[in-house]
Amino acid sequence: MKFGGTSVGGVQQIDTAARIVQSVRAEQPIVILSAMGGVTDALLNAGALAVQGRTHDRDDKIWEIRSRHDRAINELFKDRREAAEVQELLRPLWEEMQKVFTGVSLLREMSTRSRDLIGSFGERLIVPLFTRYLHSLNVPAEAIDARTVIITSDDADFMLVDFDETRKRCERLSNMAKDGVVPVVTGFICSTPDGVTRTLGRGSSDYSATIVGGSVKASEIQIWTDVDGVMTADPRLVPGARVLERISYREAAEMSYFGAKVLHPKTIIPAADENIPIRIKNTFNPSFQGTLISPETPVDQRSVKTVTSITGLSLVSVEGRGMIGMVGVAGRVFTTTSDNRITVLMISQGSSEQHISLVVSKADGESAVKALKREFQHEMEKRRIDEISSVEDVSIIALVGEGMKGIPGVAARAFNALEAGSVNILMIAQGSSELNLSFVVQQSDVPRAVRLLHDAFELHRANVG
Ligand code: ADP
Ligand code: ASP
Ligand code: MG
Repeated sequence: MKFGGTSVGGVQQIDTAARIVQSVRAEQPIVILSAMGGVTDALLNAGALAVQGRTHDRDDKIWEIRSRHDRAINELFKDRREAAEVQELLRPLWEEMQKVFTGVSLLREMSTRSRDLIGSFGERLIVPLFTRYLHSLNVPAEAIDARTVIITSDDADFMLVDFDETRKRCERLSNMAKDGVVPVVTGFICSTPDGVTRTLGRGSSDYSATIVGGSVKASEIQIWTDVDGVMTADPRLVPGARVLERISYREAAEMSYFGAKVLHPKTIIPAADENIPIRIKNTFNPSFQGTLISPETPVDQRSVKTVTSITGLSLVSVEGRGMIGMVGVAGRVFTTTSDNRITVLMISQGSSEQHISLVVSKADGESAVKALKREFQHEMEKRRIDEISSVEDVSIIALVGEGMKGIPGVAARAFNALEAGSVNILMIAQGSSELNLSFVVQQSDVPRAVRLLHDAFELHRANVG
C-alpha cells in the first residue's frame, strides 16, 4: 500500500491513512510512504538557496519543513511523553540535515548525489512518525529505510534497479509482515551497492511500491492517492473527467509516460513482470473501488480511453532540402543528443526526408540546438542542411487506448476536433503499437486541446472501461 504526498500531508490525512492500514492488518500489508506533500520541493528549494548563498532564506525553508512535522507530531500524539519520544526519534535527521545544508552552503554547489541526499529527508522524516502513529493505534509496525532494501546502480542519469539483490533484501519485509508487523518503507529513495543515497526520480514512490510489491510477490499493489482512480483526463484540466474502472498494464504505462501524473512512468514494469494487479485508490474515499490495472483489457472497448499531456518541452528541428538521400543523418542526430545526455521524448521524420524533429525538455532545448549545429557545421556550410532551430514552450498531447488498434478514423477525428478549435498541430507521431497517437502543440493550447479531444471522443460518457 503506497500513500502519496497528499495522503500523508497533514494530521487528518495521516490519521486517515493509518486507519486504512489498520483496517487491513489481517492481510499482512507492507506500507510505502511519500514525503508529506510539498516537502521534497521545499527541501530542493532550500538546497538551491544554499547554492545561491541565501542562507537566511535557506533556513526559513528548513524551518517551514520542521514546523510542519512538529505540528503533526504534537497533534497526533496527545500524550506529551509520547510526542517527546517521536521528536527524539527525528532529532538525528534534523542534525544530519543541518550538516548537509551547511556543506552545500560552503561549497555553493549541489551535485546529483547531494541533491538526492537532500531530497531523501522528506521520506525519512515521515516514516518514523507514521510508524509510531500506527503503534498508537495498536498496530505493530517497523520503520524501514529503503536504502537497506532497494539497491540501484550509481549512474547519474539512469538508475538501474538491481532486482536480484533487491528481491533478496525484501525477504525481510515479507517475514516481518507474516509475523504480524507492518513494515513502513520510505518511497523514492534507494542506495547504491556501496551505500550512496540515491533516489528513483521525482514522483517515484509509486515505482518504489511496485519494486517492493514485485519483490515480495504481493497479491495486489495499491496506490493510495487524492483522486478516485485513473481518469479519462487530468481532472484539473477537464472537470468532467471520469474514473476508468479497468485499464491494461500497457495502457497505464503509455499514459503515465505521456504525462498522467497519477502514476510514475516506471511503475508498471515490476508489477507486470510478476503479473500483480495494481489498484489506484482514493485515501479520502476508501470505499470507492478505484481503478484496477491488470494484464487483460476489458472486452467492451472504446477506441480512446484517455487524453494526457506533458508540458515544459521544446521542439527541435533539423531541416534542409539537401538532406534527401543523405545517409546517417538520423543516426548522427541521436548520437549527438545521447553524447550530450539529452533525453528525447518523441521523434518524427518527414517521409520526404526533409526534416527530423525531436521533442526534448525545455531545459535541454538550447543545448540540443547548439550541439546539433556543431555536429552538422559542415553540412550547413554546404547548404545541405538549411536550419537547426527550436520552438520553446510546446507540449505533447497523447490519446491512449488499446481499442485504437485497427479502428480507422481516430486520427481524423482528433485532428478535426483540434482544427475546429483552431489548435495548431506542430508535429505528429504514432507509436507502432497503435496504442497511442501523440502530437505536439503550443503549451498555451493544452487546456483547450485536451477538452476538445475529451469531448470529441465522448470520454465524459458513462461505462468507460
Ligand atoms: P500522489 O502524491 O498521491 O503521488 P500525484 O499528485 O503524484 O499524487 O498524482 C495524483 C494527481 O495526478 C491527481 O491529483 C491529478 O490531478 C493528477 N492526474 C493527472 N492525470 C491524471 C489522470 N489521467 N487520472 C487521474 N489523475 C491524474
Ligand atoms: N517525494 C518524492 C517527490 O516529491 C516522491 C513521490 O512523491 O513520489 O518526488
Ligand atoms: Mg505521485
